[in-house]
Parts: sequence; structure tokens; C-alpha cells
Amino acid sequence: MLNDPDRRPPPIIGSMLTLASHRRDFLRALLAAPAGLTLSFTASGQNAAPIKGSKLSANLALVTGDGGNIAIVISKDGLLMVDSGLAERSGDLLSAVNEQVDAHRITLVFNTHWHLDHVGANELLGRAGSKIMAHENVKKRLSQKIVMEALNRTVEPLKPEGLPTRTFNGAGQLNFGTQKIQYASVPPAHTDGDAWLFFPGPNVLHTGDLLFNGGYPFIDDSTGGWIGGMVAAADAMLLTVDARTRIIPGHGPLATPDDLRASRDMLATVHERLAAMARQGKTVDEAVAAAPTKDLDAKWGAGFLKGENFTRIAYTGLLRHK
Ligand SMILES: [Zn+2]
Repeated sequence: MLNDPDRRPPPIIGSMLTLASHRRDFLRALLAAPAGLTLSFTASGQNAAPIKGSKLSANLALVTGDGGNIAIVISKDGLLMVDSGLAERSGDLLSAVNEQVDAHRITLVFNTHWHLDHVGANELLGRAGSKIMAHENVKKRLSQKIVMEALNRTVEPLKPEGLPTRTFNGAGQLNFGTQKIQYASVPPAHTDGDAWLFFPGPNVLHTGDLLFNGGYPFIDDSTGGWIGGMVAAADAMLLTVDARTRIIPGHGPLATPDDLRASRDMLATVHERLAAMARQGKTVDEAVAAAPTKDLDAKWGAGFLKGENFTRIAYTGLLRHK
């Protein structure tokens, strides 16, 4: 069953606040040190945010509290899950979907990118017979060991049953039940295999981690991510939305097109400043010391990443991209 927003406390707001503060504490603690950053995706135990399902339209639900934000498309023949949370919470996620959203089987998983807070239930669902769809580079990345230097973390490949069974590169349309869903991959941005989905009926966009609503985004230079691509991806998504579109970001509360535009403009400003430093031959440490985001940190640095850590990650990615 879906939560009925008319009869219950507003689930989106409550759960989103929990999610936002959870993510903030989580990333802040882990990314606090400029060197030897350590990222643990563990989110189980008493500090884990509750997993909450809330209805966005008759056939579309948002599930928060388990890694990246998850969307569920409901049809009479089964469910489509967009992103699948953290591996250690996959049982909790499936129970939450079953109890709070809809009891149909999950027949299709769509991964917006390869990160392990978006693919955690892939193995469980793949073993149970769900199809898994993603950009071709998601399959490539999930098949290999990845060293994420910025986070001082090595990520092991998924078991074969967790890998995408259907891959794409570019844009397409997916018919799921009676719903037509548009999707598109973008050139390297947050990673080298990002895709967003647009649901024209309820007018909802799921950005994956192409948007961190309300803060500086993590950009994964270990798999091709770079800030110029983040700007281009935001531009592409802005062409798809209208003023009334509701936007599910990869992390953070539901966003408006104005939120997406503000994030895009911030990224474009930082990109310009970092590109100038790259032309001057500045090292990463010199770029961080110059504090190029100082005037932006009050607005953007209180969320997922501080300005200093964002500068380090974004500048490293920019230098690698050149
Ligand atoms: Zn990500």
C-alpha cells in the first residue's frame, strides 16, 4: 500500500529531512579530512535512516532513506525500481517497498550509475529474476574492481547476477505497463555512465547523482567524472523539464527546476574558476589553498561536502579530464 498523504503526516518532508541530515552527518564525518578520505557506505544499525515510501502519483512512488533516492513505477504486471540502495539494507528495502508501496514483484531495476549506494539490491533482485538495465559503462564498472582514490576506498565487483542484463548508450524510451518513460545517458559527468529518467505523465524527473539537491555534489574522478560534464548534464536536464516538474535528486529533498538551475549555475561558476587555475598550472593543493568557493560555501558547503573537499575533488577531476 502507498502512504495516503491525506491521512498521514507528510511523509516526504519528514523522511527527506531525516535523509538530508543523515547524509550530511555521514558524508561530513567521512569526508572531513582533506587527505586519506574514507567513505563507508555502511548505513545499518541504529543510525540508519528509516526507509520511507511516499506517493508522487497513482503509479509512481519515491523511496528515501536507503542510499540514493529510489523511484518505483507501479504496473499491474510488476514494479520498476530506479536505483536499489545499499547492499546491507536490501532486505529492508524490499520489505519497505512491499509494505509501503506495492506488493507486486520487482521485474525491472534501472541503475542511474554504478555507485554502491544505488546498486545495493542488484544481486538480490537479479538472483530473484529481475532484469537490470543501465548504461553500458555501469556494467563495465560493476564488473571490475574500482579504486576510488578520493575516498581511499576500493570497491569490489558485483557478482554476475547483480550486473545489468540490458545496456544502452544514448537516449531511449521505455514502456513499462501503461507508462512511457524517457531516459538518456550523458557524456561523463558524475561518473562515466550516468543516466536520468523522465516520467512525462506525472511530470517527474529522476536525476540520479547528476543532482545533489542543496549542496556541492560528489564527483567521481576515478570513473571519469568531472565538473564540466556536471554542468552539461544539468543543461540537458533543464531542457527536459518545465516549471512544474518535480525532480528526484540522487541525494537530498525533492527539487524544483529552480533548484536544478541554481546548482547548475554554481557548478558553472566553480568550473570557470578551476579552469583558470588549471591554465595557470596550479596543483591540487594550491587550488584548495586559494579557496575558490569561499563566496559560495555558506550556501552550498553546509550539505554533503565542504567547499575545501569539493574543490579538491572537482579540481582533481578537471585535471584528469584535460
Ligand atoms: Zn553517485
